[in-house]
Parts: sequence; C-alpha cells; structure tokens
Amino acid sequence: MHRTLADDLSRLPELLSTARDLAVQELAGLAERPVVRLDKAPDPEALPGIGAGGEAALARFAERWAPGFSGSAGPRYLGFVTGGATPASVAGDWLTGAYDQNGSGAAGSWATALERETVGWLRELFGLGAAHSGAFVTGATTSNTVGLAIAREWLGERLGVSVSRDGTAALGRVEVLSGSPHSSIGKALSVLGIGRDRLRSVPVLPGNREAVDVAALDRALSELDGRPAIVVANAGTVNTVDFDDLRAIAALKERHDFWLHVDAAFGGFAALSPSYAALVDGLDAADSVCVDLHKWLNVPYDAAVQFTRRRDLQVAVFHNASPYLGLPVGEPDFVHLTPENSRRLRALPAWFSLVAYGREGHREIVERNVALARDLGERIAGLDGLRLLAPVRLNVVCFTLAEDPTRERVAELAHALAETGEVFVTPTVYDGTPGLRAAFSNWRTSADDVDRIIGAVTRVR
Ligand SMILES: *Cc1c(COP(=O)(O)O)cnc(C)c1O
Repeated sequence: MHRTLADDLSRLPELLSTARDLAVQELAGLAERPVVRLDKAPDPEALPGIGAGGEAALARFAERWAPGFSGSAGPRYLGFVTGGATPASVAGDWLTGAYDQNGSGAAGSWATALERETVGWLRELFGLGAAHSGAFVTGATTSNTVGLAIAREWLGERLGVSVSRDGTAALGRVEVLSGSPHSSIGKALSVLGIGRDRLRSVPVLPGNREAVDVAALDRALSELDGRPAIVVANAGTVNTVDFDDLRAIAALKERHDFWLHVDAAFGGFAALSPSYAALVDGLDAADSVCVDLHKWLNVPYDAAVQFTRRRDLQVAVFHNASPYLGLPVGEPDFVHLTPENSRRLRALPAWFSLVAYGREGHREIVERNVALARDLGERIAGLDGLRLLAPVRLNVVCFTLAEDPTRERVAELAHALAETGEVFVTPTVYDGTPGLRAAFSNWRTSADDVDRIIGAVTRVR
C-alpha cells in the first residue's frame, strides 16, 4: 500500500473527525453565508503527482474552494426549486459513502432491500397504490426520462413492435401532448430518440393558469384518429405551481389510447398535507410518476424516485442481460430498472429522513414553506414598484416590476438581490412577461427569513 494511503488508513478516525468539524462549522454558518458567490472561481491547478494526504486535502479544500461554495442549502436560496438537507439525511448521506454499497442488485447485501422499503414508504407518502413499483434515480430529469422510456415501449406494444429491440424508428411519428411541461421533458424526448419537436403544446386554461385545458386535450387526442400517444401531465409547474386536473385527464382514457406520465417533481409533496392533497388527486391513475427528492424531501443531491404500473415494460427497456447476470426472473434487481448498472445507495439519506421525521415532520416542512410563500407574496403585492404575476398557489412567488418589466431590468433586480447575499431568486418569463420566482422548499426557512427577504427587496427595488 502507498505510504500516504497507509498513513490515512491508520489515522482514519482523526481524518473523519476533522471532516466532521468542517461540516459542523459550515452548517452552523449556513444561514449567514452569502446565498451565492458571484466572483470568479480560482483557475485549475496541476494534477498532484505526489499526494498530500487526507488531512492536507481537507485543509486545501477549506482554504481554496469552500469559501466559494454557495449557500444553496440555506434558508434564503429561493432559486429554481432547491431543497436543503435535513440533519438526518446528511448523516445518512455520509454513511452512504462510508458503506459504499452497490445498489445494482440484491446479491450479498441487504442494501437493496432497504431501497425497496424506502420506495414503499414514498409510494405511500404520495398516495400511490400497490400497483406502482419504483426505484431511485439521480433526479427528476432522469425520473422523467425513465417514465417516458417506459411510455415509448408501451407505444410499441400498442403498435405491435418492440422499441427496445428494433429502435424508436419502428414507431414512426410519436405524439407527446402536454400543457406546461418542464424543460426536462424536451431533454428526455431528445435522449429517447423521440425528438424535442414531437412535444405538442396543448392550450392551458384561461385566466392566469398554467394547467392544461382538458377539453382542448380531449380534442387534440381525438385528432390522432385512435393512434396511441403519450400525455405528460404536470403536477406543479415551476412558474406558478399550477396543477393539471389529473383525475379528468385520466378519465379521457375511456375514449383515447394514451400513456399518462405525471411530472410531480415537487408538486407531489402536496399529497403530504390534507390542505393541499386535492391538488394531486388522481395521481395514482398515472402510468408513470416522477417525484424529486432533493427538492422538497430535503435530502442531499442527487435523489429522485420514479414509479410505474408497468414494470414488465421497464424491464424490457432497461434489463442488462449478460452471461453472469442472466435475465431477470421474479423481483428484478435495480440494475434492470434504471439507466445505471452500478449505483449508489441513494435511498439511504431518504430512509434516514423518513425515519427521523416521519410523515408528520415532512408535512410540517411543506405546510410551513407554503405559509411563508403566501406571506412573502402578500408583502410583495403590497410593495410599491412590484407586482405579482400570478397568485401564490403553493410554494412559489412569481413577481415582477410594476413598471416596464423588460428582461434586462428584471435581470438587474435579480442580480442586485443576489449581490446583497441575502436572497437568491431566478428569472423566468410568465405569460410573455419577464419576472422572478422565489421558490420555498428548504426545511430551514422561517418567518425571520421572509423579513430579511423583504428587507433586501425593499433596499434594491
Ligand atoms: C426540478 C424539476 C425537474 C428536473 O429536476 P432535476 O432534479 O433538476 O433533474 C423536472 N420537472 C419539474 C416540474 C421540476 O420542478
């Protein structure tokens, strides 16, 4: 063994303890760390020929890189939809690395049984029934991609061809219909060989809505003359957190042949609260469902879950047959269900958080975030110079300048806010008007943070 490696092995407890001290210090200062670092990162250095050892690596990281890391895990980073990491999930994440299990298959370890337990809990949390099976993936983009890959295989089944064997060309032209899809749907369609331009946009409801007009969807499906299609329903749009009427869309299956994929990346968490669960009523009728976990479950990157009712088609797409693995029989190993073969046990941080805080603890995060978003929305609506672009439906405040909201002026406002170090929001265009989004999904955010955000907005507006 190399001498530095042997040294580190002999002082492993000290090394881990120093890493722990750094983590404790950084997490203690998280709320006061600037939300983002806008200046330039250091230039890359040469590859070390002779290693410095673990302690020196830690010291170098702490000095050279750590100061430039953002406060995105903190309470006032409201850009995109960005969760933090609950205390127990951070502990679970550390142990994921320490145990370093390969979650590809069940052989020789209980690790994948823990993943199955966790997926079962999540299924229950989101109100899905036993017909849905699932697996962990790296994020909602991959979850959407897996769901749409199964949809693609289903189209083949309907048309009497096998896409996994013969390729997407065997399908001819594919129709994908959606009201306000997330950008990752286009990416997934590109990856899957269906094509970004096959995504047909269906009109949304009138009156400041992003939810699909189900009557218009009905008409669009009728125009396909019985050709099977894919419908992507959106449960929580990123601009204004609008929800498609999932039950009404599912009811269209009586008259039309389509696969229903629901992107519930963060909106799925409405199911945790009796006050908001009606927004995702009908989710269980979906053929495939995407839910992100590094957003509103507040586990570290990268984690999401995908569910489907057609595991047989999922295995047709993703099975990894080889002389030493063989074709799956019975309960398929995860290696046969997702794009990865070897995979991190990314269920462990989620398992920790669910055991530590339970359904109640996670429901409290969701309800507090929504209450804070509504409070911020009301206060922004009351400020001179700003206006809401849409009502605060759940956890996102979408607002803009009252006068002359050009893209440049709105970007300047976002930059000025980021420069205060107090709050980070991200730009969008809503119904043709440039605006900003403040998305609440961090478990740490409190009423004091909303006061500080209003303070920053008032100073720079
Ligand atoms: C965030 C998000 C995604 C993509 O999630 P990643 O975790 O970044 O891959 C997809 N759909 C919706 C609705 C989202 O909010």
